[in-house]
Amino acid sequence: MFAKVLIANRGEIACRIIRTLARLGIKSVAVYSHADRDALHVRLADEAVAIGPAPAAQSYLNADAVLQAAIASGAQAVHPGYGFLSENAAFADQCQAAGLVFIGPPPDAIRAMGSKSASKILMAKAQVPLVPGYHGDNQDAAFLADEARKIGYPVLIKASAGGGGKGMRIVTKPTEFDAALGSCQREAQQSFGDAKVLLEKYIQQPRHIEMQVFADKHGHVVHIFERDCSVQRRHQKVLEEAPAPGLSEALRQQMGKAACDAARAVGYEGAGTVEFIVDQAGTFHFMEMNTRLQVEHPVTEMLTGLDLVEWQLRVAAGEPLPLAQAEIVAQGHALEARVYAEDPDNGFLPAAGTLSFLHMPAQNAGLRIDTGVTQGDAITPYYDPMIAKLIVHRPTRAAALTAMHAALAQFQIAGLTTNIAFLARLIESPAFRAADLDTSLIEREHAVLFPKPVPLSDTYGLAAALYECLQASEPNPEAGRNESSPWTVQDGWRIGSHAARALTFQAEDRQIDVHAQALGQGEFSLTLKGVAHAAQGQILPDGILRFTLAGHTRTLRIVALESRRVIFDGATIFYLTLLPRLRWASAERQETGSLNAPMPGKIVAHLVAPGTEVAPGTPLLILEAMKMEHTIKAPGGGIVEAFHYGEGEQVSEGVELVHFKPNPAPQK
Ligand code: ADP
Repeated sequence: MFAKVLIANRGEIACRIIRTLARLGIKSVAVYSHADRDALHVRLADEAVAIGPAPAAQSYLNADAVLQAAIASGAQAVHPGYGFLSENAAFADQCQAAGLVFIGPPPDAIRAMGSKSASKILMAKAQVPLVPGYHGDNQDAAFLADEARKIGYPVLIKASAGGGGKGMRIVTKPTEFDAALGSCQREAQQSFGDAKVLLEKYIQQPRHIEMQVFADKHGHVVHIFERDCSVQRRHQKVLEEAPAPGLSEALRQQMGKAACDAARAVGYEGAGTVEFIVDQAGTFHFMEMNTRLQVEHPVTEMLTGLDLVEWQLRVAAGEPLPLAQAEIVAQGHALEARVYAEDPDNGFLPAAGTLSFLHMPAQNAGLRIDTGVTQGDAITPYYDPMIAKLIVHRPTRAAALTAMHAALAQFQIAGLTTNIAFLARLIESPAFRAADLDTSLIEREHAVLFPKPVPLSDTYGLAAALYECLQASEPNPEAGRNESSPWTVQDGWRIGSHAARALTFQAEDRQIDVHAQALGQGEFSLTLKGVAHAAQGQILPDGILRFTLAGHTRTLRIVALESRRVIFDGATIFYLTLLPRLRWASAERQETGSLNAPMPGKIVAHLVAPGTEVAPGTPLLILEAMKMEHTIKAPGGGIVEAFHYGEGEQVSEGVELVHFKPNPAPQK
């Protein structure tokens, strides 16, 4: 076995490979771009080597830089992960030439499967069932149009060198063929540097079911069951599960055999995935083979209890496969959800930003999280916006769905847009629950998956107000350790008085004004729209707000990001903005005698004449800010000596607005 392995990748897959290396006592070497200097994979590895600037083309795709790092670090082998250089036959050649073991199949096997067209010709020879189509070299438009007619519409035009769901066009009628061909060829040339296309019968409402295969250098080939990856958006996987619901044992055997035949046909070694498309009649057809570890491999690991990275290492080191086909056993049901920084409501557009707040559910034997980020890390536009993979394993599919839904409800991220709420709806959708699976599920279930946003209920406004009050009553750290003393607790409570606080939140559709009156420790009277609500609550050690309103106790997580308040109710998120206001105004409290602008704005009106003596709470002036009017009131009894700004004047945040002379404090 190797003593040291370099991981030519980043993110969650680099972290995941490092974990197995550490368990096997193998030293790990990470590589990183400038953008990933402080990334988790760099921190987890025993050694790390910088390989270039942030853009992947200059770092993770720079074969020479990766090779140099491997040689300099004294690694004996390179694990390419997925993506980047993992299916680059030339890089595998370069590794061999440099005396390094490439942890993957032989370069010729990568080449054979690298072209969607060439691999199909090979598979036809090996009698692996194919989707009817044309995979040849003739790229003449009239010839291809004729082939399309022979195949029968609808047809799919695919970039031969394509991947990642790119370079595909569905054509429903002959008149649209030429335009679709041209656009597909242009995209293929642009994205993959090769305009070559192939034609396939477009299979209506198919399922995507793939077989995990493994082969060693001693002629053994096994399959490690299937994964159903039918739930896709933009031809990219969102949920993956095993076993494939409803797949008969007979069909599983046939697909397993076909996958092993495919691997044998190209002299395969190591981990690979043979992707099949299964039509409504249950007939399966070869789509392509991915000659690397797949993103969704944890599904198979949870199902079987095997470590596929360990198998990859053993095979690459020349050991025979650890188990024979009959010894590989599946148990229960495994389901993976990919948590992405993306906006499902906006065509699943990738999002970028900082993970200002990140809380993940606790891992255990039935719940696994593969991630490459921690709180405070950024999701940059340079790389794939996947944040984490959440994998659950339970005895049944129904139990796995329940567990996944519960896990998503505890997966809370603030700072950027994610697909978590969407995933939760997907898991709960009747179609997915009923395993009514095909690749169009997300489009077909649009109404269920993209409901109208629920308006924020008053309960959230009250909870947010309670949260602010409780935050303000957190023990003052400067006041010593005696937390039970009323003098060290800033809860606004004063002997003989009830401190009050006015809070204003801006929700998407309205403004929420709450008047909070402290009643005692953790208890408040919250007035909203003229109705007083008795509220009681506490902030638990993990930051969760536990509160009781109208006799109903529940929990929510509220995260403060500057003036934003992010409210997590399970997987659903609501946003509020806390508008600045005056702090606690106690009738007995003697204020400093000046009043400052709580936010930038415009003076609308002076409400009293300079020189007037006023009672506590008398409205003094109106400030307009953020399209709303704010009344500035007397903090106590005293004289309004002067206004510093005239009506109509703009003021910046924090400036003193009123020169106020408080009445002398009563003699004790
Ligand atoms: P890529 O390499 O870009 O992932 P694939 O060939 O693996 O492309 O196809 C990706 C997805 O496109 C499949 O999972 C399936 O949903 C859809 N697809 C591919 N071929 C067909 C086909 N002949 N008919 C219908 N859908 C297809």
